[in-house]
Amino acid sequence: METKLQELKNRLIEINDLESAAALLHWDQSTYMPPGGAEARARQLATLGRIAHEKFVDPAIGKLLDELRPYEESLPYESDEASLIRVTRREYERAVNVPPSFVARFYEHTARTYEVWARARPANDFPAVRPYLEKTLDLSRELAEFFPGYEHIADPLIDYSDYGMKASFIRELFAELRQRLVPLVQAITAQPPADDSCLRQHFPEAQQLAFGREVIARFGYDFNRGREDKTHHPFTTKFSIDDVRITTRVKEHLFGDALFSTMHEAGHAMYEQNIRKEFEGTPLGGGTSSGVHESQSRLWENIVGRSWGFWSFFYPRLQEVFPQQLGAVEMDTFYRAINKVERSLIRTDADEVTYNLHVMLRFDFESQMLEGNLAIGDLPEAWHERFRTDIGIVPPDDRDGVLQDVHWYAGRIGGSFQGYTLGNIMNAQFYAAALRDHPQIPEEIARGEFGTLFGWLKEHIWQHGSKFTTSELVERITGGPISIEPYMDYLRRKYGKLYALPVNDAHPADSGHR
Ligand code: ZN
Repeated sequence: METKLQELKNRLIEINDLESAAALLHWDQSTYMPPGGAEARARQLATLGRIAHEKFVDPAIGKLLDELRPYEESLPYESDEASLIRVTRREYERAVNVPPSFVARFYEHTARTYEVWARARPANDFPAVRPYLEKTLDLSRELAEFFPGYEHIADPLIDYSDYGMKASFIRELFAELRQRLVPLVQAITAQPPADDSCLRQHFPEAQQLAFGREVIARFGYDFNRGREDKTHHPFTTKFSIDDVRITTRVKEHLFGDALFSTMHEAGHAMYEQNIRKEFEGTPLGGGTSSGVHESQSRLWENIVGRSWGFWSFFYPRLQEVFPQQLGAVEMDTFYRAINKVERSLIRTDADEVTYNLHVMLRFDFESQMLEGNLAIGDLPEAWHERFRTDIGIVPPDDRDGVLQDVHWYAGRIGGSFQGYTLGNIMNAQFYAAALRDHPQIPEEIARGEFGTLFGWLKEHIWQHGSKFTTSELVERITGGPISIEPYMDYLRRKYGKLYALPVNDAHPADSGHR
């Protein structure tokens, strides 16, 4: 059986080599490739993707998985071997369920839709993309139908990014969160907004980049096994566990955008850099879900990177880097500026408190569209209406409304957004668990030390790669299911100090300022 397992592993690693080559081509395309390279690059990526897919759905892999079943069943669930067979089978069955002709049709359609959207968004022209989006919805439902026996039609689509999470569970969790967040946003935005003019000065690019790199090197991002380059839409990519790269972009007239995005991507990258080497090149060798991945990026970006403790160490250093811009700005003013809460139109620019409202309305719309309860033609109006009730403003147009996110225009409808909010919810649960084990973590952060937190995340989350599903990981760490309480505690405690809120249950662990 060991020989058969080795044979399976060898095949998987070969496929992963092709996928890593494609990832490198994609990284190059998004960073340094001259525009002229686009046409050939699209073809090269399609070729590599097709060969990798063909190799994975090869019946020989199915036969190996069948032969390995008794061996898998003889091993403990958590063993590396059983986990490798289990997770590979899950991905294999998903891949063979979808006919290649459908995959080709789907990619062709989404490529065309993306082109139309890229022109329609600046022109505020929803009618131009409407027929394309209708076809996307049809194809998304067709895709779900390849996985019969689902409870909700979104479930098989959610499985692609957050395996095992059911729409019914997410809907209930989000409804609970929304009920608590809407009044919080109202209470905060009823007060005078924070003054963030100190961030809106000229901050030269070179110093911004250097400062960001200094911060993430201290977090523990390993520059010997990674690097940072510039791009339009920041992302993290991986060619092996020892080569995980991040990208960023710099706005010279807005401090924070580049730094927080760098911390965010470093959170994703540290997860990937610290998966056990034994999993390299196999389906276990990547982060387990989009939700857990976002929990890591947002933990470093928000819970750590926007905390008072973090800045009590780094703000004097930042003032040294930008003496003219920040030398006379009090830390309290700066802290309020980087944590400003406001009603805003764009999800990706939203603050910690309002962000999830942006995600939840998208998740609900996806479900309703898939169910047939919301027609594409009614989407812009539904968007405006939900914004009015949840966020308290109405987008002036569709450009900054239903046309703002690329997701539906470059992929399927279903399972595209829930990971962002699941990540926010889980990052508070994970951080609370880390604090229970190591109550000194906040004091360490205030000294610019991150080793204890890094080590805890590595031990409990990162090293496991995809061995455990999202729910299994949460259960192992917290002893229970995903819950919004630690997240609401975190928000109430932090924003209760920044704003006069009706309920301000300050917690001793977070004292030390104001
Ligand atoms: Zn992210």
